[in-house]
Amino acid sequence: MATAPITKPASVRAAANMTDYDTLCAGFSWDDAQALIDGLSDGRMNIAHEAVDRHVASGHGEQLALRWISKSGSQQDFTYAALQTETNRFANMLRSQGLQKGDRVYALLGRVPELYIAALGTLKAGCTFCPLFSAFGPEPIRSRMEIGGANALITTARLYKRKVKALRPDLPDLRKVFVIDEAAEDTLPLTDLMADASEEFTTEAMNPEDTALLHFTSGTTGKPKGVVHVHQAVVAHNWTGRIALDLRAGDTYWCTADPGWVTGTSYGIVAPLTNRVSMIVDEAEFDVARWYDILEGEGVNVWYTAPTAIRMLMKAGTEALQGRDFPALRFMASVGEPLNPEAVIWGNTAFGQPFHDNWWQTETGGIMIANYAAMDVKPGSMGRPLPGIEAGIVEMDPEGDSLRALTEPQAMGELALRPGWPSMMRGYLHEQARYDKCFRDGWYLTGDLAMRDADGYFWFVGRADDLIKSAGHLIGPFEVESALMEHEAVAEVGVIGIPDETAGELVKAYVALKPGYEPDEDLRLDLLGHARKRLGPAVAPKEIAFRKNLPKTRSGKIMRRLLKARELGLPEGDISTLESDET
Ligand code: ATP
Ligand code: MG
Repeated sequence: MATAPITKPASVRAAANMTDYDTLCAGFSWDDAQALIDGLSDGRMNIAHEAVDRHVASGHGEQLALRWISKSGSQQDFTYAALQTETNRFANMLRSQGLQKGDRVYALLGRVPELYIAALGTLKAGCTFCPLFSAFGPEPIRSRMEIGGANALITTARLYKRKVKALRPDLPDLRKVFVIDEAAEDTLPLTDLMADASEEFTTEAMNPEDTALLHFTSGTTGKPKGVVHVHQAVVAHNWTGRIALDLRAGDTYWCTADPGWVTGTSYGIVAPLTNRVSMIVDEAEFDVARWYDILEGEGVNVWYTAPTAIRMLMKAGTEALQGRDFPALRFMASVGEPLNPEAVIWGNTAFGQPFHDNWWQTETGGIMIANYAAMDVKPGSMGRPLPGIEAGIVEMDPEGDSLRALTEPQAMGELALRPGWPSMMRGYLHEQARYDKCFRDGWYLTGDLAMRDADGYFWFVGRADDLIKSAGHLIGPFEVESALMEHEAVAEVGVIGIPDETAGELVKAYVALKPGYEPDEDLRLDLLGHARKRLGPAVAPKEIAFRKNLPKTRSGKIMRRLLKARELGLPEGDISTLESDET
């Protein structure tokens, strides 16, 4: 895409954690990142030690670790020392209830302090932690608990009664259910048990390859996979938080993601705390004024969010920003979906700096490709691989039966990574064949299509499943969506290919409009004309349908496969993670 790069002032480059990308990449080995964490004796480690205990031991116990903002706006603060006490109590509580190293502890909670305490306390006890979105219905809860063999669950009395109670006969491994409010029969009162538990706990010294976290993928392309991550991942969480998000000790940091999505764990718990920042947790759902109040009022330095939220802020317009000032805001980043160039540029106008897009997956555990504080941003590009990460564009060799790496600039192929970084998944639970299929000829295949330009920047094209083949052209939905996003009337857009006898497939766009625009024929023609001018007739959509909303996962991703299934009258497949829907 032809948008001009956004350059960084010398002062920003000089102050960033990484001042020179090429030098850092050339001299980097993962041992350097390993050296940034403490570790425990005999080569053992524990994520919770790196996130909490070591900061208290080094004299930072009085620093704010977590500020919780409740839905009603009240606040609760936890220093690192308080977080240590609470997580110790939690770990002791698990022990007293018979939960041992290796057991699986699940959480079904909104973004409340107990969720964060449970995550870290579970890790301290050497158990595996698995967070679920509290908005999940009974079936996604049941299947995820069954796949992971949940032994304990932390939830609320209301969620238990509405969603879990009836499932218990199906979940024989589920020995204990703790509720954070009033315990009903067959549940245990977490607060009382924690009040009785000791504040002293010796964090379990784990083998680096011991399982720490179980995370389900977003389910954008199909049935969610249960991804296994180990304690060693903390080396990458800490490193990537520092390099890709420019986290610095003492920063005020806000990750808007829920831990039910991997971003809310890797970068909503582990990376910030291991980097000793003070993190904000907001219990409430997205709200324009509330978000600006938090950014401004809390003096957020680093903000990590997602394209869907950015597009909603854009939709609200610049009026919502009037009279506001964000002098503390130093770095803004986005993940989860391709970030349209329009959104990057809007950020630059609205906040005086671009949104920094970065790319990764539940499987990779941490950020792999990013736009860095010290680097020029090319709007629409995911950026460049992290130091320590080798990324390639690959395709099947037409003459053989192996993968070949495409090195010529702009060649499109599957985005692949050389395995070997610490936060790489160690498996898909109970799905060995699906896991094995991800690896070939020394590469991990991501399932995403991308290009690399002559400067080494990577550009997302689309998911392999979403690629459109029309009259001999290969069309990535992102390019078409980004062109439509430039139009002043468009708030959000999802593009798919629909079968066509002559062209193979035709490009169809589903468009949601900004307030004040009517979905009439004039606007439809105007959008078609705009797209044709920007993309040429071969790539531009042939059809546009207006929608109030697009179907999205709970992690905010447009479910193009669902648009397509509905268009073709096919079964909808697994929709356990569907949040907002078309109307
Ligand atoms: P499933 O694997 O169950 O279909 P999912 O792939 O959406 O769901 P996640 O692991 O949450 O589950 O998402 C990772 C995917 O999100 C990536 O493979 C990519 O398709 C998309 N993605 C994440 N960040 C970006 C980005 N910056 N640009 C483009 N796409 C992104
Ligand atoms: Mg995926």
